Amino acid sequence: MARALRETHDLLIVGAGPAGSAAACRARQLHLSALLIDREQYPRPRPCAAWISPAGIELCAACGLKARAAKAVEFKGLRLHSWDLKRSVDVKDPQLRGWLVDRAVFDHALLRVALRKKAEALLGVEVQELRLGEDQAAARLSDGRVVNGKVVLIADGIDSPTAQLANIAAAGTQGHLARCVSVEFEGPKAQRGLKVVIGPRRVGQLATLVRAGRRQRLSMLTPEPGRIAEEHFRAFSQAAAAGGFLPPQALASPVTRVSPAGAALDMDSHVGKRCLLIGDAGGFVAAFSNEGVYPAMKSGWIAAETAARALKAPLLQDELTSFHTAWQSELADYLRMPNTDLSLLMPLIFSNPQMSQRVARAFLLGQKF
Ligand SMILES: Cc1cc2nc3c(=O)[nH]c(=O)nc-3n(C[C@H](O)[C@H](O)[C@H](O)COP(=O)(O)OP(=O)(O)OC[C@H]3O[C@@H](n4cnc5c(N)ncnc54)[C@H](O)[C@@H]3O)c2cc1C
Repeated sequence: MARALRETHDLLIVGAGPAGSAAACRARQLHLSALLIDREQYPRPRPCAAWISPAGIELCAACGLKARAAKAVEFKGLRLHSWDLKRSVDVKDPQLRGWLVDRAVFDHALLRVALRKKAEALLGVEVQELRLGEDQAAARLSDGRVVNGKVVLIADGIDSPTAQLANIAAAGTQGHLARCVSVEFEGPKAQRGLKVVIGPRRVGQLATLVRAGRRQRLSMLTPEPGRIAEEHFRAFSQAAAAGGFLPPQALASPVTRVSPAGAALDMDSHVGKRCLLIGDAGGFVAAFSNEGVYPAMKSGWIAAETAARALKAPLLQDELTSFHTAWQSELADYLRMPNTDLSLLMPLIFSNPQMSQRVARAFLLGQKF
């Protein structure tokens, strides 16, 4: 490896999305030095309408990110619909609130907070080689530079090329991952908020319509394989457009992605030599709602705290393994699918206010059913 930089950072953080940036914020609060590395420039060229839950809002505040800086707009309540769109209920509950954000703007704002706290960042470069030694880790970047760190937080997304370099199985290698089919479109000006459409079958299937003014995104989370997922999505969106639930623009070409929803719960380990897997790379996405921003940030936050303890411990690697119990106690319930068959409860969801509140809280607050 050529041209090594002399300084050894406490943390090398690969990926400056919500997981990496929140980890950097927490690391700096704990007086650790942190270097973020991302192959993209920020703001990332992927604007997308998204929602952030109340837990996410609280964590943003703890990082030092204000709604105004993220150009976030608050929404209140949630509307639940049946799959045939014939029944619906508005769930009004003061706890049900959140932010609507443009992800390009939000992710950039969170990264800027980390930089203001004096985290460093190298953007537009990839990690191409990783050496995990007895004293430190060294990453060779695509521009030829070598950077050193004591602990590496891997936050580079579901396929995580860096986890492969570190010989750890990332979420993308798990079998039976869910699919997320989605389409973004400009609709007529609509009330801001979330509409959640509950699938008719026992297996979890959910469609979410994010309405951020004219900008809207319909996404469907399903355990079905890609082709079947796309057929279900097409059938649903055509029926929804015919019934006036969606404008015709919503029938544009959808995109299908593998989703790590709930995958963290099935993974054997998130710990490698001097490394921790966080965010999508570690499968930290809520199984029911496909919410990933808060779980990504929280896993990064917990990982930075684990690393801080490990850097003071007699045996760094032993302390890194405590990441497992730390995230299990703080996040596992949030990530789990509600332990119930929603298809059986369907009539009650639209007739019994307590039942609709429980479903809405499971979706938006990650509460146990
Ligand atoms: C269609 C869709 C809609 C969604 N909507 C929502 C929503 O409304 N609300 C919500 O909470 N969640 C939503 N999610 C989930 C959420 O987007 C993710 O869970 C979240 O972005 C994960 O954050 P992260 O930091 O782990 O990864 P990312 O945000 O994916 O960041 C990973 C970063 O790593 C960088 N990288 C990759 N490889 C390398 C490398 N080799 N070297 C350096 N850098 C590298 C990438 O450039 C990228 O910037 C949605 C997901 C999908 C697919």
